[in-house]
Amino acid sequence: MDIQKLLITGGTGLVGSAINRTSVKCSSVDGDLRSWKNTLDIFKKEKPTEVIHCAGRIGGLGSNMNYKGEFFYDNIMINTNVIEAARLTNVKKLVCFLSTCVFPDDVKYPLTEKKVHLGEPHHSNYPYAYAKRMADIQIRAYREQYEVNYISVIPTNIYGPNDNFNIDNGHVVPSLIHKCYLAMKNNYPFYVWGSGKPLREFIYSEDVAKLTEWALDKYDETEPIIFSTSEEISIRAVVDLIVTAMNYKGDVIWEEDKPDGQYQKPSDTTKLKTYLPDFKFTPIEVGITKSVEWFIENYEKARK
Ligand code: GDP
Repeated sequence: MDIQKLLITGGTGLVGSAINRTSVKCSSVDGDLRSWKNTLDIFKKEKPTEVIHCAGRIGGLGSNMNYKGEFFYDNIMINTNVIEAARLTNVKKLVCFLSTCVFPDDVKYPLTEKKVHLGEPHHSNYPYAYAKRMADIQIRAYREQYEVNYISVIPTNIYGPNDNFNIDNGHVVPSLIHKCYLAMKNNYPFYVWGSGKPLREFIYSEDVAKLTEWALDKYDETEPIIFSTSEEISIRAVVDLIVTAMNYKGDVIWEEDKPDGQYQKPSDTTKLKTYLPDFKFTPIEVGITKSVEWFIENYEKARK
């Protein structure tokens, strides 16, 4: 029997750190995946048979808007190198992370796996979106030419412990947890961007980890699969949950001159439900409470 060896890129990040299966977890200290040489060296050294590819240049609305060139270059290089190195070193199964940002802006909702390439992504994050779309193309091409069992998954907005809690560059949940924490500690208002009206579908990192392990074992289709609760919640409601979990009693100030980003991106999870009809998602109030507790307990070591 073949000995399985799993390599996780982005292994110390939000999703990578939530995956419990025995694996080698690599992060930026092990090499720069934008470099072809570094990438191939990692694969030759570790000799994985399976890969979960989570690494990328990742960030929230603010950093997607401010670092467009870097988001394009870093992600297209990382994906291209990782998938090619996997092929050259005979990796049998690879799960690649795409993102809900890949979808077109102007498209009929809900978003399904068939709609990834049907139009331009939203202007706020098109460099990241196009780079990620190319991972889908690379996987499709490699499956056809090399007959490899490489697949991709599309999670909606992930949050949880070990997230990037940077105020300027993080995603909305970790940025707001950090901002609320500082507002409480320093006794000043809690500033939130935009109108609070945009809707998002949030998924807890441990749920994504479980679904990813399932996909590694059982999902073999060319087409990506969406990972989502398919429950939309407004940014305003997320703020309320964070305020409650943090027990914050001060003022919340809405900075309406800050961007709202896309209004909504509702997903269709028919495919996931067909495969896993009984999957139990972590309710958002539980996930946010756990994330807030994790951040407070790990304030010193948290990425911020
Ligand atoms: P997106 O889902 O790709 O747009 O990325 P985010 O996770 O960054 O979520 C952006 C949404 O949260 C937008 O509607 C923002 O206006 C709102 N938001 C409110 N406050 C913040 C904040 O402090 N940071 C971020 N990133 N988004 C915020």
